[in-house]
Amino acid sequence: MNKEKKQIAILGSTGSIGTQALQVIAEHADLFEARVLTANNRWELLVEQARLFNPAAVVIANKAYYEAVRESLADLPIAVYAGAEALCQVVEGTEIDMVLTAMVGFAGLPPTIAAIRAGKPIALANKETMVVAGELINGLCHQYQVPILPVDSEHSAIFQSLMGEQSPIEKIILTASGGPFRTFTREQLYNVTPAMALKHPNWDMGAKITIDSASMMNKGFEVIEAKWLFGVEPKRIQVVVHPQSVVHSAVQFADGAVKAQLGVPDMRVPIQLAFSFPQRLQSTFDRLDWYAMHDLTFERPDTERFRCLALAYESLRQGGNMPCIINAANEIVNRAFLEGRCRFLEMADIIEKTMQRATFMAKPTYENYLETDKEARRIAAEQITSK
Ligand code: NAD
Ligand code: MG
Repeated sequence: MNKEKKQIAILGSTGSIGTQALQVIAEHADLFEARVLTANNRWELLVEQARLFNPAAVVIANKAYYEAVRESLADLPIAVYAGAEALCQVVEGTEIDMVLTAMVGFAGLPPTIAAIRAGKPIALANKETMVVAGELINGLCHQYQVPILPVDSEHSAIFQSLMGEQSPIEKIILTASGGPFRTFTREQLYNVTPAMALKHPNWDMGAKITIDSASMMNKGFEVIEAKWLFGVEPKRIQVVVHPQSVVHSAVQFADGAVKAQLGVPDMRVPIQLAFSFPQRLQSTFDRLDWYAMHDLTFERPDTERFRCLALAYESLRQGGNMPCIINAANEIVNRAFLEGRCRFLEMADIIEKTMQRATFMAKPTYENYLETDKEARRIAAEQITSK
């Protein structure tokens, strides 16, 4: 270990964000070191990454692959752990300077909390953590004096637009690509397949977030994430569909001035900034070609066709554990749609019914979130199997 370099733990190093984070680390090997790498199932890639980046420890969350990983790395001084608990323990290591949460879904919540309690700055990609328990996370960050650096491109854009500002936010303009079905009618949406949903026009991302982008639940989650990250009420967060994904989001101030951050759609930009903040580093990534951008367009989102967006706002209006309920139900229907067990438009119906049936709690504790997540998953899953 080189103490001069920032030691980064990457939770979910084999995913879309995780692999791009490793590219950033490789480009700036003089500044950053991958201290911990973790994965769920893709153990071969985890081993390959460990051989390249030589971390102090790796965690394979799925214990079935523990032996395989351990044997493959037996010749190297890399500690190998397995299981969800190990993810929480490994982020506490005294040498770690920053934790990138790049795993998917509710599973990101416990290790993020463990990292905050250990005083580690968070580079936050795992938006589900803020959706489920934003208030709790903010309280812990305050208590442990831990900063959260947003990695989600929209939130990084908002963060960048706020740099140097002391004045309050009048409005956040949260841009959305609209996904692959932006122009589809309801009838067309009825028949869309997972393969169609997995073809995102601008971003190459993991399957779960790509489906969420197609249903616009991703944008709904980003509204919730923005509320907690920037302390802005939902009525001041305006979603604007911008199919070209060049304006990554913007902030409007009291005088009417709007500051936005623009760029080529490339997640390595916000990842790198989260690692290097408050500095900006050189990059070899593509630059915007201003003469090629003839038409940047902006539209109103259609919450009749994309009901998930409206449901996300509704969950915020109700508050308490409702966003946790919507997240759990969404994880179930997202998977079911991907596996061909649920139609595209049914996802919103099942989520809405789960919101009505799950036990509401106005002031949930951490344990309540765990219970809520289980209950809402069960209620959503029942609606899929009962058909
Ligand atoms: P991905 O599916 O490509 O990768 C997920 C990673 O998490 C993998 O390394 C996987 O092994 C690990 N993982 C998954 N489930 C796990 C579990 N239960 N326990 C432990 N590890 C687990 O996902 P992604 O697209 O990289 O997204 C990661 C997170 O970043 C998500 O929360 C997503 O919403 C957010 N995000 C992604 C992008 C993007 O461009 N991909 C953009 C913005 C935000
Ligand atoms: Mg985003």
